[in-house]
Amino acid sequence: MCELCNGKHVVRSITSFSIEFQPCPKCGPLPEEKWIEDLTRLREKIAVAKERVRRRKHESVSNYQ
Ligand SMILES: [Zn+2]
Repeated sequence: MCELCNGKHVVRSITSFSIEFQPCPKCGPLPEEKWIEDLTRLREKIAVAKERVRRRKHESVSNYQ
C-alpha cells in the first residue's frame, strides 16, 4: 500500500492558510471505478439506514395499537 496516501489516492498538503486535499503524486487521483464503488457502498448504507428507520417507525406504531 502507498505510504503517502494509505491507498486513499488523496494526500493532505498543509499550507500556511489551509489544509488542501490533493490527488496522490505517487499513485494519482482516485480511479473512476473506485469512485463508483464507494458511491455504491454509500448508497447501500443509506438504503440500510432508511430501512432501519422505516422498521423502527413501524414498530413504534404497532406498539401503540
Ligand atoms: Zn498514493
